Amino acid sequence: MALTRNNDVPPGRSNVDKFSPVYEGPFEVKRINEIAVTYELLHVNTATVATNESEVGPPAPEAARLRLPTTSQVDGMHLGYLIDTPSCRMPDYDPYDVSIKKFIKKPFKVINGTYDVTLDSLSCCVHEVTRTTQSFKKFDANCDNKYKTSKCHLIVNGTSAEVTTDGAFVVCSKNNSKSKPFYKNVHYFFHTEKIRDKIATHKERLESSEALPLNFILMGIDSTFRQNLRRYFPETFKFLSDDPSTLDFMGYNKVADNTDVNVSPVIMGNRAEDLMSFKLDCYKKQKANFDSCPFIWKNFSAQGYATVYSEDAPSMGLYHFNKIGFVQPPVDFYARPYMLLSEKEIGHPKDVNHYCYGLQASTEVVYDQIMRALDNLSDDVPVFGYFWSATYTHGSNQNAAPLDKPTLRFLEKFTQSSHRNDTILLFFSDHGLRFGDIRSTYLGALEERLPFVTMLFPPWFKDEFPETWRNLLTNQRRLTNNYDLHSTLLDILHGAYNASLDLKTPAGRGQSLFLEVPTNRTCESIHIPWHYCACQSSLPANIHSSEVKQAAQVLTQAINKLIEEHPECSRLEIKEIISAREYLNHEKFGEGTVKKKLDKWTTYSVMIETTPGGGHFEGSVVKGHNKSWKVLEDISRINLYGNQNTCIEDTELKKICHCR
Ligand SMILES: [Zn+2]
Repeated sequence: MALTRNNDVPPGRSNVDKFSPVYEGPFEVKRINEIAVTYELLHVNTATVATNESEVGPPAPEAARLRLPTTSQVDGMHLGYLIDTPSCRMPDYDPYDVSIKKFIKKPFKVINGTYDVTLDSLSCCVHEVTRTTQSFKKFDANCDNKYKTSKCHLIVNGTSAEVTTDGAFVVCSKNNSKSKPFYKNVHYFFHTEKIRDKIATHKERLESSEALPLNFILMGIDSTFRQNLRRYFPETFKFLSDDPSTLDFMGYNKVADNTDVNVSPVIMGNRAEDLMSFKLDCYKKQKANFDSCPFIWKNFSAQGYATVYSEDAPSMGLYHFNKIGFVQPPVDFYARPYMLLSEKEIGHPKDVNHYCYGLQASTEVVYDQIMRALDNLSDDVPVFGYFWSATYTHGSNQNAAPLDKPTLRFLEKFTQSSHRNDTILLFFSDHGLRFGDIRSTYLGALEERLPFVTMLFPPWFKDEFPETWRNLLTNQRRLTNNYDLHSTLLDILHGAYNASLDLKTPAGRGQSLFLEVPTNRTCESIHIPWHYCACQSSLPANIHSSEVKQAAQVLTQAINKLIEEHPECSRLEIKEIISAREYLNHEKFGEGTVKKKLDKWTTYSVMIETTPGGGHFEGSVVKGHNKSWKVLEDISRINLYGNQNTCIEDTELKKICHCR
């Protein structure tokens, strides 16, 4: 269901309440001992006050009493629900729940350094850094990796050097010292020469009575679920929770597996695989460049915004990991060459990550770039910034911890600056942690599907647009997703903040969060595949039952089907069924395709280990009324695959292929 501004207006709050079933009791959790937890569905009264049967559906069967789980799998202790609408319930739970506590590890420490030196004892070389840009007629796979550094502009005894590029590599030694340089760093600038026209247009805007556009900053932290913010960003989480102009969208459910396919819907309105099926140039083939993709920053640029793009880990950049990136700089201020130089010259690698650049955490460098962009540009021109950090968070939950203080410092600095008054900051993630111990638990699976999404508004926004603010507050506890963020961005693009006016969001897959999100949304109605839907309640299932064994077989067959045309990949067999869960067939869940095809169906989520290679996979498998079996949509790989897959290029199949 796509909501648009003009016709399909979501029901108002009073309407919505009429459709809510009356629950006499929640799912109650009774903890029996450390290893066995029983759920009991208490008398769910579905005698709804239904005024429109076709919308509400037929009454559900009388109160269901569910059988007890027979496995020893531990579940989370419910603390109520993040989302509790007729079509979606997402459990809330203790971030330190007993079922995951053993996987919550101690983080490492980042030690900040200091320099002991006076300025007049310095001798520094300043090297200007320039991206080497190839042409569309002739470019190669390295087109977004090349840059050059100028010869040394020497600074001694307090002299200065003019820098004309947006990045400079600075190397300093103590005067008269023959020892190796003790200071190396990359410095950033925002030269406005190249956006002269945008500045001129904005000047006209300032002189007219036109409402001034707000800056928009997207700051993404990879692989971070909301509960992980609470665990490892406690001070940041407290700041965000206490801030009266920050919203926390607790029912934001990812729409696909990894970063690319979850960020694309936000910044392009569609998943990468959909863009592929549209046959857009930018997604035509595996090694295509992304220059022609419909990035929303192009729309902002056309509206006169200065555009900025930076990622803390350029080697695994969103459009660069196993991809070639951009031929031309995609934005006005493209930090990639400077970040690549940082990795090479001032990175401190640990495992595969550069946690620090010079004396700063790499994510802190990105936070600084945000503040610098706003400081240097926003007086003259509105700013659209795309910023992403993956270094600390993409591989483990606990490595997020060193970012708590830098993130808090950034948010405080931003909030204390004048920029808070004219900027909307989307501070969010793409998905939860996709691999590792915690991921193989039920709560880990839930975490993977529910990234944190917060939005910081100017403090005056709620008074200026009270109806919009009311909707935003309500939507914090509604089922939302990536497409909604895209629609919201379109409203921001058009300065369409007033929910009571006929706003401008074109029809699409989502709806702007400035309008109330209806309570009757299901995952299916907003294009969240069943496999990633966190709305369904489920129970542990017996891994020794014939049905679960059958489901595991069906999943293995589906995995092998994906690689059947790739003889370089081994056929996989089940080594072990790790765990299984059975979904509860909620009256309103899974309406549409699944239900139409299968009147009576049982759905399992099965986790298996396969051999050879020891891959751990999770899939949702449905058994139909005529005993037909089917795997629903995506299959998740939930442990790391290392170097097992170097024989295959296809990024989607890399998670499955174990090379012979
Ligand atoms: Zn990601």
